[in-house]
Amino acid sequence: MLIASTAKNLHEALASTSTVPIASRTIICVPTMGALHEGHAALVRRARSWANNNDPAALVVVTIFVNPTQFNDPADLQRYPRTLDADCTLCEAAGADAVLCPSVEEVYPPNAPPKPSDSELPAVATAPKLEDARRPGHFAGVYQVVRRLFELTRCRRAVFGEKDWQQLQLVRAMVQQLNLSIHIDPAPTIRESDGLAMSSRNRFLSPTERAVAPAVYRAMQAAQRTNSIADAERTMRETLQHAGLDVEYAVAREAQSLMPITTSTSTDRASVRLLIAAKLGSIRLIDNAPWG
Ligand code: AMP
Repeated sequence: MLIASTAKNLHEALASTSTVPIASRTIICVPTMGALHEGHAALVRRARSWANNNDPAALVVVTIFVNPTQFNDPADLQRYPRTLDADCTLCEAAGADAVLCPSVEEVYPPNAPPKPSDSELPAVATAPKLEDARRPGHFAGVYQVVRRLFELTRCRRAVFGEKDWQQLQLVRAMVQQLNLSIHIDPAPTIRESDGLAMSSRNRFLSPTERAVAPAVYRAMQAAQRTNSIADAERTMRETLQHAGLDVEYAVAREAQSLMPITTSTSTDRASVRLLIAAKLGSIRLIDNAPWG
């Protein structure tokens, strides 16, 4: 597996591995911030298996970049775990052809597109008042970095986890807005055996908090057994509060726009997404699931 820190080195190294011209090979990008776990490994395996089944010449490129422009809390950026050697081992075992781990200067040279303003972002990044309201500037940073990572890798396909549902909808909307010919492939959330969604931040939970954290998954499961939006939201909130979590939001929204479901909107279960953000001590947990 190749490891490169610049796009130039990445493409030269990939080109030298085969007589097939690199420009004609599909590149599948798996963007990450490192501190990789089984959830990320599943994205890489998904990319590999798509390639094996559909386009054997395709190349799987994992990017590892802790993007400073998407952190609204400098302390969170500071303490974000960095485990590059272990990350590369995981990527290779999961079937990646290359890892691109660029510097901040490589991702953001002076002529790179700037962080968009809120008014330039797709509505799903500003209107729902979910992650967008809790983390000002976060989605502008995500938009900025994903756009650049797509440019650097020259990908035609990219895998994103459903774990970050609002981010996934934003990336889809960005691809449309910029008219990019990149297929976005959503990957299901990988969970621990007790239902807790895997996350690089779970390592910061104390043993007591770790025991409480699966309440997030239980809350969504309980909501799946309800028959109205109001009951679904109330059930989630009560389950979380009962377990001792500090609820930021626990809502049932239209799955694509993430806007509230009004009486005029169809309440077809398949088009509803349950979304939770809750705090355990200083750790913020986010999760989501289909309603039906
Ligand atoms: P991150 O490194 O946390 O920014 O995440 C990189 C990618 O991995 C994103 O597309 C996430 O949605 C995805 N991801 C993170 N955790 C999980 C998980 N538990 N299951 C599936 N995908 C995940």
